[in-house]
Amino acid sequence: MISVEDAKVIIENYVNILGVEEVSLNNAENRVLAKDITAKMPSPLFDNSAMDGFALRSSDVKGATQLNPIELKLVSMSSAGSPTNITLKKGECIQCMTGAKIPKGADSVVMVENTSGFNNNSVVKIFSETSINNHIRKEGEEIRKGSSLLSKGIRITPSEIGILATFGYGNISVYKKPKIAIFGTGNELVEPGSNLKPGQIFNSNLYVFSDLVRKSGSELVLKKVIKDNKNSLKYFLDKALKECDIIISSGGVSMGKYDYVRQVFIELGVKERFWKVAQKPGKPLFFGNRSSTLIFGLPGNPVSSYIGFMIWVWPVIDMMMGNSEDLSVTAILKEKFPLENQKHRFLFGKVWSENGTLFCKPSTKLGSHMLSSSKDANCIIGVGKGENYLRSGESVQINLLPWKVIK
Ligand code: AMP
Ligand code: MG
Repeated sequence: MISVEDAKVIIENYVNILGVEEVSLNNAENRVLAKDITAKMPSPLFDNSAMDGFALRSSDVKGATQLNPIELKLVSMSSAGSPTNITLKKGECIQCMTGAKIPKGADSVVMVENTSGFNNNSVVKIFSETSINNHIRKEGEEIRKGSSLLSKGIRITPSEIGILATFGYGNISVYKKPKIAIFGTGNELVEPGSNLKPGQIFNSNLYVFSDLVRKSGSELVLKKVIKDNKNSLKYFLDKALKECDIIISSGGVSMGKYDYVRQVFIELGVKERFWKVAQKPGKPLFFGNRSSTLIFGLPGNPVSSYIGFMIWVWPVIDMMMGNSEDLSVTAILKEKFPLENQKHRFLFGKVWSENGTLFCKPSTKLGSHMLSSSKDANCIIGVGKGENYLRSGESVQINLLPWKVIK
């Protein structure tokens, strides 16, 4: 049995970053940027109006009020996408809609509400003074041309997609998605929606894995529940070894009479890098590789499988995809945390922020079969071996569940 720390070092030695490919912006969601992105142009791209109104020279309307309006001659119109090429002169104004290019010669916009309005009269009454640049969004005021927009290694979310579109990137370089196979093993497993016979249970782990694979941005290529039968295990695991970057199985890696997974992997040429980690839950974790394919045999208890995926597999997916985000942070315990004297202890937990400090507490449901311990959780708390309890007030390492909100 090896320590959590040693297991992490071993795994890292076998992870290769996948290659890079170009995708269209339509397919960029949840991918990881493979190149830094700079602003090819300033934003705003040109001086434009923040209001529907009239572009004019601010000096022309000094002293204008509701009772003493100043009259200007209407000479043109500039709307979004249709700029005017007329240069505004003294005593003139131009209708100017939101997003429209500011005409040459104008230095301010008065909103239509402070004028006699958009009618077809050739003279417009202006009811208020204005200052230079009022209601004008200036070229480059948000982002200068050439400045850095997005860094390589970040995951693409709606914000990044919007920014890439704003700056005209129709195709982008992203890291390839890991191809993943997930397996559930066990004669007792039945699919949700069907009827249970005595002794059977519903397969939940593969549903959790499927969702995690999707959320991680990887590609699910094979998903199968397999009986505890060496031949069918061999058939499906061999297929997965040929097609995938990562194989994740649940169940069948402990000391049970029908726990064949480890043996079958080894018979298929997988090199075992470790089996059994000093952790709870999930001690019989198997890790190996066959050339560049990495194999994680997670124990079948639902909490062991879920936590095992998040602690062991998720960071590997991130590394393969070049994702440099780190989900691990420190937080202060608000309640005591039960320790194991020979093992690293992982529990689902809740983290929240109080005046900028992160506090956390573990789930009170401790059993590795109690999947409901994950329901209100937004993190996994992990603490090294020790006696009895870690007291409230101590700092601990937590792994955020990235799709959950910290409240
Ligand atoms: P194992 O690791 O195969 O010894 O399984 C440990 C426990 O997890 C047993 O109680 C199994 O019935 C249960 N288990 C295994 N696979 C699954 C699964 N896919 N969904 C839900 N429970 C499972
Ligand atoms: Mg089993």
